[in-house]
Amino acid sequence: MEREPTYDLKTGRGLMACPRCDALHVEEDLDLGETARCIRCGTVLAKPRDGAFAQLIALAFTSVVLLVGAVFFPFLEVSTMGFGNASSLFDVALAFAEGVLLPLVLAVLAMIIGLPILRSVLLLYTLVPLAQGRPPRRHAARAYRWSEILRPWSMAEIFVIGTAVALVKVAGLATVHLGPAFWAFCALIFVNLASRAFMCQTSIWDAIEDAGLQTEFGPRATPAPPSQPLPRPEDA
Ligand SMILES: [Zn+2]
Repeated sequence: MEREPTYDLKTGRGLMACPRCDALHVEEDLDLGETARCIRCGTVLAKPRDGAFAQLIALAFTSVVLLVGAVFFPFLEVSTMGFGNASSLFDVALAFAEGVLLPLVLAVLAMIIGLPILRSVLLLYTLVPLAQGRPPRRHAARAYRWSEILRPWSMAEIFVIGTAVALVKVAGLATVHLGPAFWAFCALIFVNLASRAFMCQTSIWDAIEDAGLQTEFGPRATPAPPSQPLPRPEDA
């Protein structure tokens, strides 16, 4: 049986490109538990699962709690010859608040604390109404798009790896005790990994679209009907 084509090659509506190899596929609505893979490279295109939104919400909350703890709990304690000093990221930020390093401190705090918290908040803003079966908030599409744009810029994992490398050097000079904030960052890596595993962008975009919000970026893909020419002001 020949089916009506449900896609539009001009606007791309109804088509989906593989994020890895760009092969174009016709979008189909999947049932829960089904998986759509790219026919060329096998990349998972969509994998809607029951309760995925609730899990993502829980993980976003977890990451906010961990990040707030990571700022205020001691990050590490350095001791040598009987003298010790424990400091948190907040203490470090205050210590450099007046020097020339202030822009650097602000940039580091924004990347490792600010952006991950902002991403979690944007995700919660998008997903909480969807998970409850209510209509999404007005700017849900924009919020989710920003949360995806900011993903490569939230660098908590890279911070942990950088700190671990630095600690190996310091460990030869003094005794280093890792504080709760360091472990909070380590836990954050696993929370982020789990969130990435549960995240099915296609399902979230579909849920936003199904609720009637426009998800296209920029001006509408379908051109508006030509408007009447404006009446010219009459000559005096
Ligand atoms: Zn592919």
